[in-house]
Amino acid sequence: MKKTVKDVDIQGKKVLMRVDFNVPLKDGEVADDTRIRAALPTIRYLVDGGAAVTLCSHLGRPKGKPDDALRMDPVAERLSELLGTEVKKADDCIGDKAASARAGLKPGNVLLLENTRFHEGEKANDDDFAEELAQGADLFVNDAFGAAHRAHASTEGVARLLPAVAGFLMSREIEVLDHLIANPAPPVVAIFGGVKISDKIGVLERLLDKADTLMIGGGMANTFFLAKGLEIGDSLAETDSLETAGEILEKAGDRIMLPVDVVIAESPDRPEGRKTVAVDAVPGGWKILDIGPETVKQFSDKLKEAKTVLWNGPMGLFETAPFDEGTRAIAEMLTRLDADTYIGGGDSASAVNGAGVADKMTHVSTGGGAFLEYLEGRTLPGVAALADAS
Ligand code: ADP
Ligand code: MG
Repeated sequence: MKKTVKDVDIQGKKVLMRVDFNVPLKDGEVADDTRIRAALPTIRYLVDGGAAVTLCSHLGRPKGKPDDALRMDPVAERLSELLGTEVKKADDCIGDKAASARAGLKPGNVLLLENTRFHEGEKANDDDFAEELAQGADLFVNDAFGAAHRAHASTEGVARLLPAVAGFLMSREIEVLDHLIANPAPPVVAIFGGVKISDKIGVLERLLDKADTLMIGGGMANTFFLAKGLEIGDSLAETDSLETAGEILEKAGDRIMLPVDVVIAESPDRPEGRKTVAVDAVPGGWKILDIGPETVKQFSDKLKEAKTVLWNGPMGLFETAPFDEGTRAIAEMLTRLDADTYIGGGDSASAVNGAGVADKMTHVSTGGGAFLEYLEGRTLPGVAALADAS
């Protein structure tokens, strides 16, 4: 257990808070504000408790230098609307611009610093950069679970320089995922999709020991099809992971479920020509883009017995209708179960949001990489650096 904002005195304090405002932008506006909303309870608690709040986050992948397309201005604007109070914005996260903006803060004020990744010191976890971020603050609050698997200056470095506690989002993620790791109600079903096995190999191997059933869909299944000697036409696959896929198949035995039918098309741009075929009947030149209805049925029947379901990775090319049907069907199936349901991964969370069923899940994690690494049993540097609850 980690200390939280509730365990420390915040009245009149200058707080540096790390948030995960790495949100998708479109035409200079925030396209999905889920991550901003997720940080609101902690920000409101600090504001109401009389702290002066300086927020910082990374956004996208600028290369250690300013990139106008990745400035935090649209985020500050959206946060202002959601909070219902003015959110000031500094045009840098360190240096004079940041220092003068921070010096002027009064209790209850909120300031958002510029993108931390505009400086190389962020990803390098540079001590001087971390010290500048920490400058003048009495307390560090980390609510950025989604960035906790990175030992960067704003997640790990500053936590070594200031008293450091978890925000509500961070502490809830830890609590819920700890419960999932330690006490999942059996039977446990893990559903994996997306494309790359190599991104998820650690957690797949761990779940081979923990889960009663492992369902594989999405592009990831293609690599398993290849490992079984099936033809997959022009579908995406990860040939570097063929051997791993074979080992997983062998270890899992009949605990692994692969799709039995798939939706294929010659191109995702021509969905009208799509077909549903058995997995051993994919013609050359075609692409597997979703799981088929018989697979949905088989997965659903097995899911009915589950008491715990863990899901990471969409079942198909869910961004492009109608190849979202398999993913949607699984999302909707989960709402009908008498089971605890845990969703993790950026695309998985957006698929569940898109299907309008996020609030029917036990937990939709704000973590992608952090979610997978935590379940794998790895120590997240951003979490480890926070003070332990006594
Ligand atoms: P998450 O972010 O939830 O961890 P991933 O990033 O691993 O999920 O995978 C999501 C991506 O996988 C999506 O962009 C989706 O379109 C893609 N995908 C899933 N199945 C297929 C497929 N059969 N062909 C091509 N892309 C696929
Ligand atoms: Mg993703």
